[in-house]
Amino acid sequence: MKPDGAPGSEGRLHVRTRTGSYPVLVGRGLLQRLAGIVDEFASVDRVGLVTDDRVGPLHAERVAEQCRRAGLDVTYLTVPAGEASKTRESWSVLTDRMLDAGLGRDSAVIAVGGGVVTDLAGFVAATYLRGVPVVQVPTSYLAMIDASVGGKTGVDVRAGKNLVGAFHPPAVVVADTDVLATLPTVERAGGLVEGVKHGAALDEGHFEAFERAAPVLLDADADAAASYVLDSVRLKAEVVGTDEREAGYRQVLNFGHTIGHALESASGFALAHGAAVAHGMIAEADAGERAGVTAGGTRDRLEAVLRPLLAAAGARRLTLRPSDVSTFLRVDKKARRGRPRYVLLERVGSVSRGDNWTYELPDTLVQDVLTRLLDEA
Ligand code: NAD
Repeated sequence: MKPDGAPGSEGRLHVRTRTGSYPVLVGRGLLQRLAGIVDEFASVDRVGLVTDDRVGPLHAERVAEQCRRAGLDVTYLTVPAGEASKTRESWSVLTDRMLDAGLGRDSAVIAVGGGVVTDLAGFVAATYLRGVPVVQVPTSYLAMIDASVGGKTGVDVRAGKNLVGAFHPPAVVVADTDVLATLPTVERAGGLVEGVKHGAALDEGHFEAFERAAPVLLDADADAAASYVLDSVRLKAEVVGTDEREAGYRQVLNFGHTIGHALESASGFALAHGAAVAHGMIAEADAGERAGVTAGGTRDRLEAVLRPLLAAAGARRLTLRPSDVSTFLRVDKKARRGRPRYVLLERVGSVSRGDNWTYELPDTLVQDVLTRLLDEA
């Protein structure tokens, strides 16, 4: 079902998990009826509503008010906006405040925010009283397309991002594309990179939909966004429904991420995640072509789509050396015996199977790819 554009309409799909499935609702006006949706899918008396101090005044306070009017007991919890809040310290503060408020097993967590909030609040829900339901209400493109779907939750620690966490599928995901109007353009562009990734790895039609709709999606047109987000989530849902715990096929979602993560780390996180993954996809398409796995012209096709997004994401010139990046490639989570693994495309819309969906590449080939990327980027 596709959203038909009228406020209040929705598209809906289901994500399979090991223990059942959960719905993802995408459309306009959903926040205005969130209390009813919580009642339908979580059926609790009390909620801990987690948000950040940017999204709070824009959207979450109204949600809290609506839930109170509907008779729910709401504990409103805010963290400062930004990745620096995705920590064990925040987890500790939030869980203590929920305990102080006396939230029991008849409670749920509602996460209203970007990926930082959905990951952090999801981890709070996964661990609070050994697990209470979480309603994910993503408010950024990145959280709608990627972070809120798939059940991965967690926090960053000194040793790296997302290293402490849990799989905790949500009770329901509610993506109201009206809220994207307030999302800064830089964040819109960064999040849309993950949609391009879904198209590049999984479905050429989705890739072409982005090619056609890029300007309106960057403008946060709520109808165009609803249709695109729903389609992108459908692709991710098919993958995580097949391999929830990332034993094999789910790795295809890491296309662009081996080099992307290394760039992000080598820049000391000055390079935003979306920009890093955009560069990573261009570089890994180049690597695939050089290795004879990826069809010729794929790298250029990706670059044509991603350059405008990089510009909109405000990405600055990369001032790194290839050796800075290779150091971080060796410690990538997907590395086997210290050798990094790469997801390679066959062509736009299809990942090459390789060895359990990843490839090892010769160091010299990767050096050449990095040299070209860093010369041109
Ligand atoms: P974010 O949550 O920091 O949001 C980016 C900024 O946009 C923040 O300042 C936030 O306050 C603001 N914002 C969000 N929605 C807004 C709105 N509607 N209006 C105005 N401002 C708004 O970052 P993000 O890019 O959404 O998510 C990044 C996080 O997601 C990372 O921590 C990453 O690790 C995680 N992630 C998780 C998964 C997963 O599978 N769990 C997948 C991808 C990314």
